[in-house]
Amino acid sequence: MKNTTRQISAVKNIALVAHDHCKQDLINWCKTNRTLLASHYLYATGTTGEMISKETALKITALLSGPMGGDQQLGGLIAEKQIDMLIFFWDPMNAVPHDPDVKALMRIATVWNIPIAMNEASANFLISSSLFDQTVNIRIPDYAGYLKERLT
Ligand code: PGA
Repeated sequence: MKNTTRQISAVKNIALVAHDHCKQDLINWCKTNRTLLASHYLYATGTTGEMISKETALKITALLSGPMGGDQQLGGLIAEKQIDMLIFFWDPMNAVPHDPDVKALMRIATVWNIPIAMNEASANFLISSSLFDQTVNIRIPDYAGYLKERLT
């Protein structure tokens, strides 16, 4: 499939997800970066979102809990270009029941080429990037063009 360009606006839709053993790390990261995060639209899987908003008072759209479909909801939003960045503190040391959903979320975020951070150091790089508060062009699959070619 060919590629096309998608513009991510300066004010971004950012998804936050953390597995249980990593939730406190993400809460702490959100506390540290509260001011920067507050000027963006935040989404999260259910438990992560409820905990972060309780601890930081950040406004967050909480989806379903990850194991109950929240990861898949996020994947759908990414494919619909409604999420611009994913901060995903997944647990490399413990198995989760919804591993297929986790893989699917990682995969679809990669397909649509959104910036992804899967640990705290990478999240620090993303949030301290000059691009974090700027309009950015990213390369994405040209699905509309592909369909047009297939149908002509
Ligand atoms: P949770 O889901 O925020 O509802 O715990 C996270 C996940 O496991 O994907």
